[in-house]
Amino acid sequence: MARCFCGCGRKIAFSWRPINTSGKRVSKELAAWELRNRIIREQAPDTSRRNIETFIADGVGLRDSLIEIVHGEADPSSFDADTMRAWLQFSWKTRRELGV
Ligand SMILES: [Zn+2]
Repeated sequence: MARCFCGCGRKIAFSWRPINTSGKRVSKELAAWELRNRIIREQAPDTSRRNIETFIADGVGLRDSLIEIVHGEADPSSFDADTMRAWLQFSWKTRRELGV
């Protein structure tokens, strides 16, 4: 049985797997950005650095919302899946372009 993407060890019911998979995807992107954050801080110009920091903060917000849903603390209908998809697509594209 699948476990919660946040690492808490909770078992995830079959019907919650898609949202758990979304959580894994967002977490993976955040980990990649956090790993590269130091390089970005040193190399990127001020404006794009601020944009990247805002972008990472948005991703943290998405991850926290997904955790609340998987933990049964929030109503899944309150979650904006389109915003998350746009965030993931931007993340994949930007990491490819920056090579990070
Ligand atoms: Zn969890």
